[in-house]
Amino acid sequence: MKPAEDPRWRKLNEGGAVCSCGQTHSEMLQPIHDWPGGWTHGAKIEPNNAVRVKGDFLSDDFCVVEGKYFHVRAILELPLKGLDKKLGFIAWSNLASNDFAAYVQAAMKGQVPGKGKASGRLMVRLLGYPDTYALKLFLHDRPKPLRPLMVLEDDKHPLVQDQRQGIDLDRLFDIYAAYGHDMRPAFKSPDFKSNGGGLFGKRR
Ligand SMILES: [Zn+2]
Repeated sequence: MKPAEDPRWRKLNEGGAVCSCGQTHSEMLQPIHDWPGGWTHGAKIEPNNAVRVKGDFLSDDFCVVEGKYFHVRAILELPLKGLDKKLGFIAWSNLASNDFAAYVQAAMKGQVPGKGKASGRLMVRLLGYPDTYALKLFLHDRPKPLRPLMVLEDDKHPLVQDQRQGIDLDRLFDIYAAYGHDMRPAFKSPDFKSNGGGLFGKRR
């Protein structure tokens, strides 16, 4: 079966997928990390234009910890095999202070940094994977208002393999479950009539 014809995919995009969170989803979810590891002040979120490089600062796009560690919010995408779609995690990369300054300056002018790519590390632990903290990456600029893209560097980590090779729908729904959105039980229920053809046969 083509992934686009998979009843789970159709349910998520057309009919609405019943979820453990109590809602019914009708489009792809985007796992969101509101701050990087090392930030200890919770959701104390300031406007982007209040950004400062001393002390601690958190906004939607920037985070500074102890005036020493600089981070930008960016997207890490995993292609879905056989589908023209990507799962995007909203997460954080650290950056050298000069690269961070370039990002902040450009953002204040409504521009992209124009440096092409900067190197950083993934500063969050994505759920559903062995520890992803500090994986090396390159941050690629995109036209505003799109957040920069995180492209992982060569590594044996399964997340790197998934970014290169793509993930299947089993993996997609496992990741959603790890983020507290488990649609898998509903797909197995007798009410889920189109669940023919041994969809789950491979996994048990
Ligand atoms: Zn949910």
